Amino acid sequence: MNNIVEMKNISKSYDGKRFVLKELDFCLQTGEIATIYGASGSGKSTLLNCMGFLDRFNEGEYRFNGQAIDVKRINNYTQYRASDIGFIFQAYCLIEGLSVEENIKMPFMYMPGRTVPGKAEMQDILDRLQLSGLRAEPAGRLSGGEKQRVAIARALIKKPKLIIADEPTGNLDDGNSKAVAEAFRDIAKSGTSIVVVTHNRNIEFGEGNKYSLDRGRLYL
Ligand code: ADP
Ligand code: MG
Repeated sequence: MNNIVEMKNISKSYDGKRFVLKELDFCLQTGEIATIYGASGSGKSTLLNCMGFLDRFNEGEYRFNGQAIDVKRINNYTQYRASDIGFIFQAYCLIEGLSVEENIKMPFMYMPGRTVPGKAEMQDILDRLQLSGLRAEPAGRLSGGEKQRVAIARALIKKPKLIIADEPTGNLDDGNSKAVAEAFRDIAKSGTSIVVVTHNRNIEFGEGNKYSLDRGRLYL
């Protein structure tokens, strides 16, 4: 099995004094859904931001899709951020005035070399996330569950190698949370790896490894 993410001895401090991540190890296999549980403030977003090249760690080794990452040259990896990683956030981060379809196509603004999906591909992704009837609806008019399904479609349309989900069900009720979890299982089956963090231990996202983030380290 290939590992899409291999992190070893990762440490991260914002102020140089208190370490939010302490010599942390994390591995994610291709097609695996790993869930990381942790209390609010335990460093979940910090870990995901470092994994997704949105922030830099201070020490440690990171291999993404087999390539050793030089954290001092983090700006060399914007390509990964734009095309290989799909991000899903608690707050959805949609453009409210744009339609469902326009939001889903948004990543292609940042991938100039890639062909914008045609009608059939767009229809397929809308069907997968049960959004067909809403394609022309402005995102601002959708319910929370619908918004998160649009955010998932927007992540998926890139055909990313990795999906990073930061508290994706934080604003959703049980029914919509289950729908998100089901979408993740479906995505992982097609070979995309997913790492999801949550503070809610009642939510089960998939069969992959489940970790607790506590005092800067991960425990299985
Ligand atoms: P979680 O996502 O688990 O709630 P975070 O990763 O957001 O936790 O935060 C972990 C710790 O790092 C907290 O103590 C938080 O205050 C601190 N922190 C997070 N982001 C920053 C930042 N940009 N600058 C300084 N401290 C931060
Ligand atoms: Mg967080």
